[in-house]
Amino acid sequence: MSLNLGVLSIQGDILENILSVQSAINALDINGTVTSVRTPDEISQVDGLIIPGGESTTIGQLSLANGTLKILKEKIEQGMPVLGICAGMVMLSKTAQDKVVGKIDQPLLEILDIKLERNSFGRQRESFETDISLTSLGIPTFNGVFIRAPSISDVGSDVEILSKFNEKIIAVKKDNIIGVAFHPELTTDTSLHKYFVNLANTLKN
Ligand code: GLN
Repeated sequence: MSLNLGVLSIQGDILENILSVQSAINALDINGTVTSVRTPDEISQVDGLIIPGGESTTIGQLSLANGTLKILKEKIEQGMPVLGICAGMVMLSKTAQDKVVGKIDQPLLEILDIKLERNSFGRQRESFETDISLTSLGIPTFNGVFIRAPSISDVGSDVEILSKFNEKIIAVKKDNIIGVAFHPELTTDTSLHKYFVNLANTLKN
């Protein structure tokens, strides 16, 4: 059966992720498709999902309003693989607060036991790129693109730390859930998307 992957298409880097997943599917020669999903019905049909970077307050409020947040949480709890990128990782977190303004009332999935600091590396003008590594995923070097990126200040005992930059945790994994602070879809390197497609394919079969 074909692997049916989705990119949550409420706000953010949607098209870039669709293109990266499509490249990964092609490179891996997997029988699969990737579509843009937004409604609870569309989400119920995917085998794996990327929550893209963008603005977590917007993604949270709109997904709460149309019932998407609820089904997303249920499906991830049932084991659906999910890759949360930047704002997507904020959405997955149990607790999040902004480095400058502190805690605000924003809807989160609260499914990944991490304590997250939003905009941890500064504002838009402090965006940067740097080499990072995701050794345990078989990715020794990766170009990390950080745009108003979060970092993780604490993880639950069962959450694996995948990468750190300047002593800050920037990538984590727990079973079917991966969160990264940087934007892999803004590079030409599809290694991380390939890892995710492979994970989804393995969990489906
Ligand atoms: N700072 C944004 C947030 O907290 C995330 C930025 C991004 O996804 N590039 O939602």
